[in-house]
Amino acid sequence: MRTSDKNNGLIPTSSETPDAPANVNRRSFLMRNAAIGAAAVMTGKTWTKEARAEQAAKEAAAPKLGATLSPDLNVVAKSKGPVMTVADEFYKVGPGPSSSHTIGPMRITYDFYQRCTKRPADQLAQATGLKVHLFGSLSATGKGHGTERAALAGLVGKEPATVDPKFLDGLRDKPDQVFPVKLGDKSIDVSLKDVIYDATKGDFKHPNTMTVKLLAGNDVLLEQEYYSVGGGFIEWKGYTPPKKNQPKYPFATMKELRAHADNNKTTIAKIMLANEMSIAGRSEEEVNAFVDKIINAMVATVKSGLAMPEDDVLPGPIKLHSKAASVYKRALDDKYESDRGIGALSAFALAASEENGRGHLVITAPTGGSAGVMPSLVYGLLEVRKVDRQKIRDGMLAAAAVGYLCKHHATLSAAEGGCQAEIGVASSMAAALTATAYDAPSLVVENAAESALEHHLGMTCDPVAGYVQVPCIERCAFGAVKAWTAYGIASNEIASRHRVNFDETVTALAQTAKDMNSKYKETSEAGLAQSVVLC
Ligand code: SF4
Repeated sequence: MRTSDKNNGLIPTSSETPDAPANVNRRSFLMRNAAIGAAAVMTGKTWTKEARAEQAAKEAAAPKLGATLSPDLNVVAKSKGPVMTVADEFYKVGPGPSSSHTIGPMRITYDFYQRCTKRPADQLAQATGLKVHLFGSLSATGKGHGTERAALAGLVGKEPATVDPKFLDGLRDKPDQVFPVKLGDKSIDVSLKDVIYDATKGDFKHPNTMTVKLLAGNDVLLEQEYYSVGGGFIEWKGYTPPKKNQPKYPFATMKELRAHADNNKTTIAKIMLANEMSIAGRSEEEVNAFVDKIINAMVATVKSGLAMPEDDVLPGPIKLHSKAASVYKRALDDKYESDRGIGALSAFALAASEENGRGHLVITAPTGGSAGVMPSLVYGLLEVRKVDRQKIRDGMLAAAAVGYLCKHHATLSAAEGGCQAEIGVASSMAAALTATAYDAPSLVVENAAESALEHHLGMTCDPVAGYVQVPCIERCAFGAVKAWTAYGIASNEIASRHRVNFDETVTALAQTAKDMNSKYKETSEAGLAQSVVLC
């Protein structure tokens, strides 16, 4: 008996399955067709084959509820017009462990300090105090990130790229220190007591919200609300992005970026270089000099991490032992070359990420939590494989394009999108870097970046005790290895058959960020942060 005999022809057999109309997703169509048939069996309704196919096509083509991004989602507001981000806004050197919780807050309080210095002298003469209030995720996990130390450092006039990590270590070891802040003729004493961990929940414009105030007794002389929006980027109430020149090759999607590269018979990296020059008004030498600075800082962070003693214990209650040096040494003794490669790549990522855990200087690529991923590939390609420096520069620009697009249409902030927005984007960038460094065509660069991002979708952020150590440090190693795997697949598959494009995956990243439960967005309220017991 045929299947259709058993169900009166209501559920189609494979031979009876109609073709999906051209503009309708085939899988949705077939599922709707089968579901209509199944419902018909239960209700006794009779459909002709054609009527059922017509209804299935209608249902499959209908927009799904919840598929549209909320217009008030921060990431949506930012996704208008062409990408205007440039490299020195994106790759930032600063103290770990989290770009949104250390570099961002330090830039914020430094910005406020600069605003205060510009107040009229008579107002400054009345000033008696400075106060910082941390809200949302900054309050929930700031203690573990050292947000209060970073905020105080900015307030006393220290900048992320040049602050001596020993200053921050000193604040951790001697938290009662008091510092004078010079404002006009006035000197105001500030200490960690002036940084207040305020409400963790509320109707905040961004999950990482801060206010900074200049006070005269109980009176407020100056107050500003700020947002640390991820990757060390900051905004404030009433913020308007700085005016920039138009890009030579405007693009808002990977499809458009790749079209520029292909139509001009050049690479994604060269398109990015032209845009860096036109948007920021810089020469090629200036762009190269900046990219070299970042490459060198990445190499330095891996080297200093590998040089730490094998029995080093990272700061904080987890008492996590450093493992980069041990993994590196033992990996070199592995019997198989491939195991040596994977072990070493992992060790490089662990090394840079452990430096982040120590609060030492790291590079946002795109964030502090993901600070081990890109340096691992940069170090491996430049220092181990001796790939030409110009190819690494090109790779850094292609990787930046990937990061810019994720920022443009989704988010780089774990407080907005979980770990997929940090390690996922970092891994995607590292895959683009690797493919570019090995002269892959633009489609392979896109495919590698897509693949690495795709396989981090849904990854939550649940740092144990609010410290960027577990799962973050090992996660950087996995992000690096996945980047390598993504390049391995993309460079060996038939590129034109790669089924998912980068822009689709970025849309999925944004949608997943929107739907993710807030417990998994850098609040340490769930996941490993709950299940791991600290003794
Ligand atoms: S879990 Fe991921 S996103 Fe969260 S702090 Fe760690 S590295 Fe960053």
